[in-house]
Amino acid sequence: MPNLSSLISLLPSPSEEDIALVTKAYEFAEKAHAPQKRFSGDPYFYHAYETAKILAELGMGPITVAAGLLHDTLEDAAVKPEVIEKEFGKEVLFLVDGVTKLGKLRYHGAERHIESLRKLFIAMSQDLRVLIIKLADRLHNMRTLQYVRPEKQFRIASETLEIYAPLAYRLSIRRINRELENLAFPYVYPKEFETVKKLVGEREKENAARLEKFSRSVKKALAKEGLTAIRTDARVKSYFSLWKKLERKNMEFEKVYDVLALRVIVPSIADCYQVLGIVHGTWRPLPGRIKDYIAFPKPNGYRGIHTTIFTGDGGIIEIQIRTEEMHRLAEFGYASHLAYKEKPPKAGGNRLGLLWLASFIPFVGAGKNAAKPAQGKTSDIPEWIKQIAESQTEAVQHGDFAQNMETDFFQFRVFVFTPKGDVIDLPLEASPVDFAYAIHSDIGDHMAGAKVNSKLVSLDTKLRNGDIVEIITKEGSHPSSKWLDLAKTSFAKKKIRESLDVEKKKF
Ligand code: MN
Repeated sequence: MPNLSSLISLLPSPSEEDIALVTKAYEFAEKAHAPQKRFSGDPYFYHAYETAKILAELGMGPITVAAGLLHDTLEDAAVKPEVIEKEFGKEVLFLVDGVTKLGKLRYHGAERHIESLRKLFIAMSQDLRVLIIKLADRLHNMRTLQYVRPEKQFRIASETLEIYAPLAYRLSIRRINRELENLAFPYVYPKEFETVKKLVGEREKENAARLEKFSRSVKKALAKEGLTAIRTDARVKSYFSLWKKLERKNMEFEKVYDVLALRVIVPSIADCYQVLGIVHGTWRPLPGRIKDYIAFPKPNGYRGIHTTIFTGDGGIIEIQIRTEEMHRLAEFGYASHLAYKEKPPKAGGNRLGLLWLASFIPFVGAGKNAAKPAQGKTSDIPEWIKQIAESQTEAVQHGDFAQNMETDFFQFRVFVFTPKGDVIDLPLEASPVDFAYAIHSDIGDHMAGAKVNSKLVSLDTKLRNGDIVEIITKEGSHPSSKWLDLAKTSFAKKKIRESLDVEKKKF
């Protein structure tokens, strides 16, 4: 049940102004969604509330939490943007509007569109907070997916696995990434889910007991050396990440050493190394399994020390040693960076811009003296993210803060949709002619007209981000030489020329 004071209690030391903002957004959203219900039968407002609560739990500031409460008011409660701006200011409207636009994107399972769609997400999320609100929104929708019609469940769950979970991972928000993956797993891969469930399910009770017992032994061993200001956190590998690992290990369960992990959280970095020493002095470590991600952080910024030890009773457990700060960063990633940056709304808004991408990969473009991550680990970062990150880092180094993404990378591309929702990535100022040829040269060759967002348009219309484009074809239609001027892509130009040549030969 929604509860305003429990939501407010999650805000870190809120000012009176912060409390007033969240309270107002809460009451506004409750009223705006009053007549609506969710598939579960709950009032629609529950969804707005739960989304805001996830954001508050991530440590996001009052503006983001307020925008979370309001995130569906434009689309689902027909509130006018002017009203949001008047009541809550430009910045809240900017966030709500961004989330609304992202909500229009659909993933239809075409492999070739995944990367474009991810790109589009980033491009449209001018502010990282938009993306984080969208992640919170999706997380609550996934938590309530059982109420959705079965034929929609698969699409939503696949979209979650292909788009949202990887984005959460890239932002190092592991807590959301893990939950999204685990909620989507049984819908997308029911057979595999059952296999893993059976495999782990048999050992579940035994595992919990083993971890509990081992945690006590570790605390005792550390206390003997005077380390008492620690806490531990047991974690059993999630079904989805276990399945991914099993696939890499040819389904040999015995080769997965980190099914059980114990996190030891300590006050300082020096303590981390001391804990490692005590652990290795007490239990025998597995050779080759010691990873010092404090000295050599992972490309996504993750830090901590990992080691795997024989527990002495035939078991193997991974130990992850971190400070509180490392732990928070590992769970909340970039969300935790942002939480402290949010200031109360100012006139003219306070957008953070896309500069955050520069810090997306901490080591891209970092100074010569910066610690480098383990070799080759950056290979799973898509080329286009590296390019953006590099260009942003350069901008920062040249003190060129004003030069943000809007005048940069994405200025050169537009992303538009087919009526089915597939994403087509075109150069800036592309026309329906380019679009038609990008779909299929046959469609281009027989184009008779085009609709953009359901309206008939002329063929020289410049397409804009998010447009839905539909091509009208006729058997008797053929390209004209004028189209060569309308086409931006060399592919379309080439196809038009070929087609013109064929037509010429006919006469
Ligand atoms: Mn929503």
